[in-house]
Amino acid sequence: MPDRFCSASTWERADSQWPSHERRTLACTRVSAETHDVRTFVFGTQDGRLFSFEPGQFITVSAEIDGKEVSRCYTISSPPTRPYTLSITVKRVPGGVMSNWLHENMREGVELKAFGPSGVFTPASGPAARSLYLSAGSGVTPLMSMTRAALDLGLNRDIVFIHSARTPEDIIFRHELAHLCALSDKLRVVHVCEAHGGEPAWSGPVGRLSLDLLIDHVPDYRDREVFVCGPAGYMEASRKMLAEGGHDPSRYHQESFNFAQTVECTQEPVADPAAQSGFTVQLARSGRSFTMDASQTVLAAARKAGVPLPSSCSQGICGTCKTRVLEGAVDMKHNGGIRPREIEKGMRLMCCSRPTSNLVLDL
Ligand SMILES: Cc1cc2nc3c(=O)[nH]c(=O)nc-3n(C[C@H](O)[C@H](O)[C@H](O)COP(=O)(O)OP(=O)(O)OC[C@H]3O[C@@H](n4cnc5c(N)ncnc54)[C@H](O)[C@@H]3O)c2cc1C
Repeated sequence: MPDRFCSASTWERADSQWPSHERRTLACTRVSAETHDVRTFVFGTQDGRLFSFEPGQFITVSAEIDGKEVSRCYTISSPPTRPYTLSITVKRVPGGVMSNWLHENMREGVELKAFGPSGVFTPASGPAARSLYLSAGSGVTPLMSMTRAALDLGLNRDIVFIHSARTPEDIIFRHELAHLCALSDKLRVVHVCEAHGGEPAWSGPVGRLSLDLLIDHVPDYRDREVFVCGPAGYMEASRKMLAEGGHDPSRYHQESFNFAQTVECTQEPVADPAAQSGFTVQLARSGRSFTMDASQTVLAAARKAGVPLPSSCSQGICGTCKTRVLEGAVDMKHNGGIRPREIEKGMRLMCCSRPTSNLVLDL
């Protein structure tokens, strides 16, 4: 069977159905508790259109919380092979605005606004017959979507999935992963827990993921395409561990849930004095315009000028502010939130683009 979710064209088809810059309303159809602090929220669309995305991609949800518009990215934990619904699986973050709001407010029938799927942490970024998925905490979500999709499609892909959790009670999707393993002898799941917690009979590995543990459970790890998602410290440790173990870094892919850790999208002013002079930015569709200089991003300047543009991460990751530049040029420093093909088509991310001339934008 062809590997449907391993091609850029699939992603582009999906993007054309629900573009990442288009906000739609989703209706919650079910909420289920995964652990004491993690819930899955299942949504349907209001207009009955099927969901189309690649496993591993995320959506950007937004809600008005205490009078402020708040946006956050959440990976789609459901697989694209079940297109009638879309799920996100959210861990409560102590003091966190959106995660707690979702836990407290999302019920069957409640609506949520979301921008379309985005992200490049998908099997298409490293097609392989043999994969190693490493996740910790809520980082399990993209890998769960990939695993579910691979099994639904009968891809017979050899996957070893090592998930780290604090205690056995914190393991997200524990029972479903056990069930999926029973369905496919090509899928192997190993849970590594830091402590026994309330389950003294826990017989799996205890401690943290280490090279010794990896060699024990996945002796052929060097031959596998590796996908990693989890807290920043976990990903750093995993990357080092694999490098130490001689794994080819070009076969390593990671997704960060923490913008602060991935920011390379520098907001430094452009040194060229010519660029400091004023540029005009015209919005072709709304007819609005504003002036700015190259010391700031187009998004920041638009906000200052009172012109609202769709946006979320402001770091060139999520793709929400993707816009076509109809005239003029910008200097863009992104963090993976836009594909080379989209750049070729004249799209740019406004949150990490500075003008180098007057601009006309398709907004
Ligand atoms: C691509 C991507 C995919 C993601 N997928 C998932 C997923 O599948 N599941 C999931 O659970 N999460 C996911 N996340 C993380 C998610 O987007 C949120 O970051 C997370 O839910 C926390 O958001 P929040 O609004 O609850 O917390 P925030 O309000 O953003 O707070 C985060 C932390 O900062 C602290 N904080 C907040 N305000 C302040 C302040 N003024 N001063 C000091 N500290 C402060 C809070 O106490 C908290 O510890 C993903 C992130 C990305 C980028």
